[in-house]
Amino acid sequence: MRATLHTILLLTLFAAFGASVSAEPLRLSIVHVNDWDRLDARAGAGGAAKIASIARYERDRVEAEGGQVLLTFGGDMLSPSLLSGFDKGAHMVALANAIGFDAAVLGNHEFDFGPDVLIQRLKEAEYPVLGSNVSYKGKPGFPGAERSRMVAAGEYKIGLLGLTTADTPSLSSSGPDVDFAPLAETAREISAELREDGADLVIALTHAVYQTDLETLRQVAGIDIVLGGHDHLVLVLYDGKQAILKSGSQGNFVGIMDITIDRVEGRNGPKLVWQPSFSLINTIDVEPDPVLAEKVAAYSSKLDQELAADVGVTEVALDTRRASVRTAENAFGNLIADAMRAATGADAALTNGGGIRGDTSYAAGHMLIRKDVLTELPFGNRTVTMRLKGPDLLAALENGVSQVEKGAGRFPHVSGISFAYDGRKPAGSRVSDVKVAHTPLDLGKVYVVAVNDFIAKGGDGYKTFEKGEIVIDASSARLMASQVIEYVQERGGVKTKVDGRVRRLD
Ligand SMILES: [Zn+2]
Repeated sequence: MRATLHTILLLTLFAAFGASVSAEPLRLSIVHVNDWDRLDARAGAGGAAKIASIARYERDRVEAEGGQVLLTFGGDMLSPSLLSGFDKGAHMVALANAIGFDAAVLGNHEFDFGPDVLIQRLKEAEYPVLGSNVSYKGKPGFPGAERSRMVAAGEYKIGLLGLTTADTPSLSSSGPDVDFAPLAETAREISAELREDGADLVIALTHAVYQTDLETLRQVAGIDIVLGGHDHLVLVLYDGKQAILKSGSQGNFVGIMDITIDRVEGRNGPKLVWQPSFSLINTIDVEPDPVLAEKVAAYSSKLDQELAADVGVTEVALDTRRASVRTAENAFGNLIADAMRAATGADAALTNGGGIRGDTSYAAGHMLIRKDVLTELPFGNRTVTMRLKGPDLLAALENGVSQVEKGAGRFPHVSGISFAYDGRKPAGSRVSDVKVAHTPLDLGKVYVVAVNDFIAKGGDGYKTFEKGEIVIDASSARLMASQVIEYVQERGGVKTKVDGRVRRLD
């Protein structure tokens, strides 16, 4: 059915273009995936085996017709996933090698484990990774990444560049040695170079919000196509000259841009014309590729082994029973909040008791395993940070203790903050004696606060967090569970106690 439609479309297009000159028209099918860090399908969609299946199907189909396939990745694969928390994304590069990507761009999450780990991952990658606007230690480029690339497609030359969102330093752990140049500026410079080298078509792989992609295209006529990522949108934009394609996230959707390229006689001599057709495939009904499915199964069992690994001995008894984490300061709640604050460098951290789900207790001396931490934090929540005004921070604490008598999940576990509350007073005016970093809360000050992504969006009544100015958003954030595991490992066990940071007066 699809093939028939394509054939009809092609015939129509060739008729419209007029006679080809000096080169045969080419079918170029771009298969694009972005923001994929998950091994397997969830709710039937996405994952490595389904991506591989579509890529193979498309290669077979297009190559049989003499065309060419370009399998591209729009950034963010090394993190954040459970297994990446253990192997720093090595399994994702191995899977991407097996799927056979033709080109990728660096996403912000590629820097989550620091530049040294990324350099190692890039050595392992068997496909080119573009980092056109990245510089390292003051010099343009990043070790193992390419500034641009020319790909031969039939008798045509396709120029590729890769642009990474310029706010990566505040979204990841790229560190002081890595800088990102403005995207449009880099796009202008490199697309001109590629054109000079004879590129017929210039494609920018980007990892940025679509507003930035639009801006880049408006400012740089030398870019024909943007293959994007970062904001997890499934998106096609085409104005007849330039196009943007984004494929959501996790391979739940795979975007295909099927292009015919031709050189025709124009008024001022031969000119290149290209015509796209777009497909956005929901992978829910796609049969997984058996070879990749086997690799995924092997990694899943490795993950199970990893989850059985020791994290550290708790020196204090931990009580995560439902009522305990929803009505009072709690050592496990303190541990989570301390880990969130340490990992982000925020002034304060707050997480809701309802996010702690183990409903169990651990005696002092118990060796916590990774599975324990993930059982306590099963939602895959991430730690976002925001700039929040003093009064909004106070309002958040008021919300946290507003339903303490009901044992509501909003009960706040905090770090970097101490406060008292009186449960006899009406909700909204219970909190007193708030200190941040041992200093009384300054209502005129703005604090950097780390919270989980659920309450950041107003969950559990924390509407006040919606007023915060986001520093690290959920798509850039790391898993709370990974932060807790690292925090315990770095300190050689759980030493966090109940220390009076939340005092009940009644
Ligand atoms: Zn991203």
